[in-house]
Amino acid sequence: MAISVEDSVDVLSGVGPKRLQALQDLGIFTIYDLLSYYPFRYDDMGERLPSQTMDGEKVTFKGVISTPPVVRRFGKRSQTVIGLLVDRENVRVTFFNQPWIAKNLEVGQEVAVYGTYNAARAAMTAIKLVPASIDGLSPIYPVSKAIKAKTVAELVEQAWGQVRGQMDNLVPKHLREKYRLLDKNEQVEYSHFPNDKIEAKAGRRSAAFEEFFLFQMRLQLIKQADQRFLGEALNYDRKAVSDFIKALPFELTNAQNRVVDEILADQASPQHMNRLLQGDVGSGKTVVAAIAMFASVTAGNQAAIMAPTEILAQQHAKGLAKLFDAAGIDLRVELLTSGLKAAQRRQILEDLENGDIDVVVGTHALVQEGVHFHHLGVAVIDEQHRFGVKQRAKLREGGVNPDILAMTATPIPRTLAITAYGEMEVSVIDELPAGRKKIITKQLPNRQYDQALAMLKEELAKGAQAYIVTPLIEESESLDVQNVTAVYQDLQDELQEYTVGLLHGRLPKEDKDALMAGFSDNQVQVLVSTTVIEVGVDVPNASIMLILDADRFGLAQLHQLRGRVGRGDRQSYTILLADPKTEYGKERLQALVDTTDGFELAQKDLELRGSGDILGTKQAGVPEFQVGDPVKDLTMLTIAQEEALNLVREDGWDREEDNQALVEHLSKTMASFRHFD
Ligand code: ADP
Ligand code: MG
Repeated sequence: MAISVEDSVDVLSGVGPKRLQALQDLGIFTIYDLLSYYPFRYDDMGERLPSQTMDGEKVTFKGVISTPPVVRRFGKRSQTVIGLLVDRENVRVTFFNQPWIAKNLEVGQEVAVYGTYNAARAAMTAIKLVPASIDGLSPIYPVSKAIKAKTVAELVEQAWGQVRGQMDNLVPKHLREKYRLLDKNEQVEYSHFPNDKIEAKAGRRSAAFEEFFLFQMRLQLIKQADQRFLGEALNYDRKAVSDFIKALPFELTNAQNRVVDEILADQASPQHMNRLLQGDVGSGKTVVAAIAMFASVTAGNQAAIMAPTEILAQQHAKGLAKLFDAAGIDLRVELLTSGLKAAQRRQILEDLENGDIDVVVGTHALVQEGVHFHHLGVAVIDEQHRFGVKQRAKLREGGVNPDILAMTATPIPRTLAITAYGEMEVSVIDELPAGRKKIITKQLPNRQYDQALAMLKEELAKGAQAYIVTPLIEESESLDVQNVTAVYQDLQDELQEYTVGLLHGRLPKEDKDALMAGFSDNQVQVLVSTTVIEVGVDVPNASIMLILDADRFGLAQLHQLRGRVGRGDRQSYTILLADPKTEYGKERLQALVDTTDGFELAQKDLELRGSGDILGTKQAGVPEFQVGDPVKDLTMLTIAQEEALNLVREDGWDREEDNQALVEHLSKTMASFRHFD
C-alpha cells in the first residue's frame, strides 16, 4: 500500500509500539517528521575491494548482484542473502531482519553495500545499502538510548524509498530562487543520502534555512496575533504613579526613566504588552517592575511578580512593601511560595481570587493549580531566563491575558536575542545608578587564601559585609552542603568578632528566611553560601565577595555572583581564588578581571566557547535548532527573520497558491507544539 508523508511512522516495517514510542520521544511522529530528522554528521564510507579489506573491518563494497535474494524467516527474524560480484570476487552478503530489502535487489543490478567483512568466509554482514555512489557518506543521526542511529537511518531509507518526490516546498519559491536553495525533495535527498560532501553541504544549507525560516514564521505570526489581540488599555492614575516615582528613595537613572516610559506606554495601549527588560546586574530593574505593578493597581487590577528562588521572592515581597510604605501607598502585598502552611496558602488563594490582594510575589508556586486571580493586570517575571517556557506561558493563562514584563540580566547578545525573544519587544537599561563605584576584581591563586582573607577582614573592619561563595561540586548537592559547611566552620574560627551565617539550598525555609533577614539587617556580617545567592539578592552594604575555586563556575554565573556586590556606595571587591588548569579557564577569569560589563563578557564568552551552549543558552531560553546553528549561521538566521517578516506583512500571503504547503505546515505545527509563549 502506498504510504504518504502524513502517515504515522508506524506504517513502516520494523516500527512496533516500542520503536514508535522511541521515535515519538525524538519528536518524530509522521513520515514527514522522520524525513525532516536530519543527520548531524556523515561517516565516510569510501568504497574498497575485498583484497584491500581486513577481517572484521567496516567497509563499502560496490558490485553487481550475482545471485537473486534468498529470504529466510525465523519467526520475527529474517535473513536476506545475495551474491555480490565485487571486482572479480564473489562476496556473500547477508542482510539481517530487513526482509523488505529483497524487493530492491535484482540480479545484474549495481549496488553498494556497507557492512562488516568476514575475510575467511568472503562474506559480509550488511549494515545498509548505500545508494550507489563512489565516495559514499553515511548519515549519522542524533538518537536516544531507546533507538539506534542505524535504525533511524534504515527507517529514513525505507520511508524515502516510498515517498521520494512527494515532499512539498515550504520555503516560498521566490526565496528559494533568491538564496539558491534546493527544492525540498533535493534537500531531503542530499541531506540523507549525499553522494559527496558538496551535496551534503548543499542539503544542510537548505535544511538550515528552512528550519530558521519556519521558526521565524511562527514567531512573526505569534507576534502578529499578539498585536491583534486586544489587551486592555490600562487607564492608570498618572498622578499617583508620578507621585510614587517622586517618593522613591532615589532618583531614577535616565535609562530607568526611559524604560518606565516604554512600559507605561505599552500598558496604556490597547495592545497586549509582551516586553523583555534587559539590564545588567545591579542596574535597578526591580523598581521599574514596581512602577509597572503600581500603575496596574491604580486602575483596580492586580499585579504579580514571579521569582526563581524563595530567597528572592522573600526579598521582593519585603522590598516592594517597603517601597510602597515609604511612599505612603496602602497596598496589600503577599507572598505565595511552596513553603507556605496549608491554611495560609488557602487564605492567600482565596484573597487573590476575590481581589483583596493587590500585589502577589511568588515562586513557580504562582503558576500552580488552584491559583486564580480576580483580575491580573500585569505579570512580571524576574530573572526570566531561569524559568521554562511552560511556566512563562502558564502565567498568561491566568484567566485574562495580562501584560507581561519579563526581566533578565542575562546579557544575550542582540543577535541571539532574535531567536530567544523574537516575539517580544525589548527595553534595555544600559546605565548603572549614579555613585556606583566600579567593582574591583582580583584573581589570586589558591595558596593566597590568607591574603584574600586579610582583604575581607579589612573591609569588615570598615563596617562592610561579605559573601563567601563555595565551589560547586558537580556530583551532588549533599556534597555541596558538606563543602560549604566545612568552609563555614573554618571561617567561624577565623572571624570570631563577626557573626558568620551558613546558607544552602537544603536549609529549612524558616532558617533561610531568618538568615537572609539577618544579613539584610547587618545582624550577620559574613554569609558563607552555595550559589543559592546567585540571582537577585540585594544587600547594598555587602561589598566584598570571595569566590572559592572560581574556575568551577561558568563566566555568566560568575558575573551574576559578582553582581551581589557593588550595589551601594562602598567600593566593592570580588576576589576569585582559583588555580585554573586550562587555557580556557584562565581566559575566563581574566575576562572577569578585565571588565564588569555584562554585554562585553557575553561577547567574550561567545568567542571563548565558539558556539553551542554559550551563555548557557539553554538556560537563557534560546531554542535549539536541529540543523542550523544560531551562532555560526547567524547571517542566515537574520535573513530568515527579515524574509519571514516581509512575508507576513504581505496582505493575503496565506492565500497564495504557492504558500499553501507552508500555511498548512504552520497551522499544524503551531497548534500541536506551543513552543513559544
Ligand atoms: P537588578 O537590576 O540587578 O535586579 P536591583 O533592582 O536589585 O537590580 O537594584 C540594585 C540596587 O540598586 C538596589 O539596592 C536598588 O534599590 C538600587 N537602585 C535601583 N535604582 C536606583 C537608582 N536609580 N539610584 C540608586 N539606587 C538604585
Ligand atoms: Mg533583580
